[in-house]
Amino acid sequence: MTELMEKVRTYQQFIGGEFVDATSGETLEVENPATGQVIARVPKSGAEDVDRAANAAAKAFESWSQTTPQERSLALLKLADSIESRAEELGRLEAAHTGKPTPIAIDEMAVVVDLFRFFAGACRQLEGVAATEYLAGHTSFIRRDPVGPVASIAPWNYPLYMAAWKLGPALATGNTVVLKPSARTPLTALTFAELAAEHFPAGVVNVLSGAGSEMGDQLVTHPKIRMVSITGDTVTGKRVAKLAADTLKRLHLELGGKCPVIIFDDADLDLAAETIRMGGYWNSGQDCTAATRVIAGPAVYDAFVTKLADQVKAIKWGDPSESDDLEMGSLIAQAQADKVEAMVERARGQSGVEIVVGGARPKRAGAYYEPTLIANPAQDSEIIQDEVFGPVVTVQRFADEETAVRWANDVRYGLASALFTGSIGRAMRVSKALEFGTVWINEHFTLTSETPHGGVKESGWGKDGSKYAIEDYTTVKHVMINSGV
Ligand code: NAD
Repeated sequence: MTELMEKVRTYQQFIGGEFVDATSGETLEVENPATGQVIARVPKSGAEDVDRAANAAAKAFESWSQTTPQERSLALLKLADSIESRAEELGRLEAAHTGKPTPIAIDEMAVVVDLFRFFAGACRQLEGVAATEYLAGHTSFIRRDPVGPVASIAPWNYPLYMAAWKLGPALATGNTVVLKPSARTPLTALTFAELAAEHFPAGVVNVLSGAGSEMGDQLVTHPKIRMVSITGDTVTGKRVAKLAADTLKRLHLELGGKCPVIIFDDADLDLAAETIRMGGYWNSGQDCTAATRVIAGPAVYDAFVTKLADQVKAIKWGDPSESDDLEMGSLIAQAQADKVEAMVERARGQSGVEIVVGGARPKRAGAYYEPTLIANPAQDSEIIQDEVFGPVVTVQRFADEETAVRWANDVRYGLASALFTGSIGRAMRVSKALEFGTVWINEHFTLTSETPHGGVKESGWGKDGSKYAIEDYTTVKHVMINSGV
């Protein structure tokens, strides 16, 4: 026990260029959900820490907003190199507080690196309308200015990746940032602060580590914060939107999802089943774009359920400390496993529903749930309508294309969707009809730094990645000159 306790490092938060404890002196414990062991302590940031960080970000904004795109680009490129050189360490840390297989967490760092490199380039290529005389004797031009200090609030499912989605465009365009990772997964963000300290002036990047339920409201309502960018649950996003309304802060909301995958009768079933094995169960299904709802055509439904069941049974999963060759580790916490278990049990009790694979919680330490496939739930059932955020995929049988599209759209979320078909006409027709921010055709899950990610409906608004994120983190200013003076 003593030996274990000695290994538990206590981190510091990063405010105004300094690593400091919480003003209260209090700390929070961080667990490895794969084992249930405490692996670190972090400052329990409170209202005073929020105030210091927001003021530091506002002070730094005065000079950072005046830097050139080239200067910001060079800083971001150096940051990307530093992350790359510590990718293994960061990946191991990411695995330790998320319960992911370590090689997968290390691979995520390559995505983080690429995002910072992309935004380093993108900020040097701002686009706008022509400066010209839209009114005789008056010359108009359009500026894109930074918004100001941004509160960047990240979730636990891809801690540093989600932070990079926010920090890349924010810093590239001259904003300063107060980053608040999830209290479950603050370790990579606090380590990232060491790298930011090397490459950015004091106050440009600040990292707090408190719980959203305790200090989130102060951060969102702080008068020096001009924009709140949050990736999280739709309930949290709505609360943040209400709080931010008092000071009309700009919002960037990346919230929940319930991704449909339509399998038409002419689809390549092997490709679809292999793709859903990855897209539905990656990160234990704790993914806002997870392929959670399969809607399969009448002629292929039975064959597809069999093929997908074979894929799900073959998923390699377990304790990441026992093998480096796993597709799935633990869930984020026992509370998440409780939630998944309760939703599967409620679905199991409904008429016509069949648990084809899994449906049980292993009796072992750590937050685990079996990869699970559920057939035939009703469209209005909870398991179809609500986010499970666990390794659970449902399959429904549709009668015709119109029903498939209607069911796909019939949820409050609108983040991402997919369809598998051999018909180019159907692919075009259905991708137009799907009310989601992304439609993958004969594909699922794949993102690049150049392509936008973000939802409609209750999945929120704003785009991560791509040049559209650059637009979201800047304000458009019209400057008009009376050229007769
Ligand atoms: P969460 O909503 O519980 O927490 C997200 C972040 O918000 C955390 O940092 C949390 O501390 C903070 N927070 C909580 N209450 C707050 C408040 N009142 N004010 C300010 N901050 C507050 O979400 P989670 O459980 O960490 O992540 C899972 C959710 O994230 C899922 O719903 C998932 O779909 C969503 N998600 C969405 C995307 C996307 O791109 N749309 C990506 C990843 C995850």
